Amino acid sequence: MLSVADATRSILAAFQPLAGEVVGIDRALGRVLALPVTARLNQPPAAVSAMDGYAVRAVDITRLPARLAVIGTVAAGTVSTGSVQPGQSMRIFTGAILPDGADSIVIQENCDRDGDVVVVREGSNTLGQHVRAAGNDFRLGEIGIDAGRLLTARDIALAAAMNWPSVTVTRRPRVAILSTGDELQHPGEPLGPAQIVASNGIGLAALVTACGGDAINLGIARDTMADLDRALDGAQGADLLVTTGGASVGELDLIQQALKDKGAELDFWKIAMRPGKPVMFGELGALPVLGLPGNPVSALVTATLFLRPVIDRLLGRVTSETGSITAKLGVALKANDQRQDYLRATVSRGADGSLIASPFPKQDSAMLSLIAQADALIIRPPHAPAASAGELTEIMPLNSGCLSI
Ligand code: AMP
Ligand code: MG
Repeated sequence: MLSVADATRSILAAFQPLAGEVVGIDRALGRVLALPVTARLNQPPAAVSAMDGYAVRAVDITRLPARLAVIGTVAAGTVSTGSVQPGQSMRIFTGAILPDGADSIVIQENCDRDGDVVVVREGSNTLGQHVRAAGNDFRLGEIGIDAGRLLTARDIALAAAMNWPSVTVTRRPRVAILSTGDELQHPGEPLGPAQIVASNGIGLAALVTACGGDAINLGIARDTMADLDRALDGAQGADLLVTTGGASVGELDLIQQALKDKGAELDFWKIAMRPGKPVMFGELGALPVLGLPGNPVSALVTATLFLRPVIDRLLGRVTSETGSITAKLGVALKANDQRQDYLRATVSRGADGSLIASPFPKQDSAMLSLIAQADALIIRPPHAPAASAGELTEIMPLNSGCLSI
């Protein structure tokens, strides 16, 4: 059996980042930057006041109280023509450009106004106090956001401030999804006694969307060569085809043969993991094909492990996180066999604030109700020895979405 790490490496080797496209900055949230964003100006463009108060010369307020003539007013959006001479000051508001001659700001709370004079009662005479220097935030040409970053609301604000009305992001990967099985019906359709609702295609499409891809749901193919052959044609033009079901070794598991008949070169892997042993990967002409198991939990777990990183790679996303963190076990676990386990678990906080991961007592790979409630998967490496409650374990959080602010 193939390890999860080896399977991931083989799959990822088949993908390169997609080309970039230009989108308006107001449409760029959650997209992955393809070209870096550099500052197209200095911010602020000139030295500005950080407070409402008076622009002064620091030497004039060495001794307090100090009486200074007020020679004018400058507010954000205006430029003052006057110059502050010894013994003078200018009324100033937050964001206004520091007038010539002035080098510091005294806040209005430390002053009393007396007609054309201001009396500075208290405060320090630190040179440059409450002044934001030109380029204090960023300077022309400086890199603000590196390529490969998933754009957050904060990045959008920064790119806009750097004067980019649009940015170049990687095209969203088009991921075609095909469900297979004679027993499957779309949600809401009448169900015969031997029929079940097809949930995988819809769940996988949602996962693709959440990861930044464009999902193309090809619907359900029946377990016949003719229907599979017809349905596979719908994947033309996609960057990746994902199939679910029909990938085991039963006589009705025809997807492998249907793909091979169309000229696909496929590897059929038994991956040393639970849930989700059978996974298929290969190429149909230029179209990469990832075949996931039919069991609903296996489909979602294998998609999390293999499909999500493929989408990240196609997006050119640079991810620093490994996707896993450590937590304490809430219960004791038996020694593991040769397959890497992904145990559906809830995560809570202990009295000392540490994370505690507790697996559900049932780990059936058909139980969607439990994976939907799970906060994380506990990763149990092959041949892990028995572990007692409180021991540290690796977990993969499921509730950290692909979008963040
Ligand atoms: P298979 O790999 O086709 O043998 O399917 C394994 C199990 O997953 C069977 O119980 C199928 O009924 C179920 N299954 C297959 N495809 C889906 C699907 N799209 N949605 C929900 N369950 C499915
Ligand atoms: Mg089937």
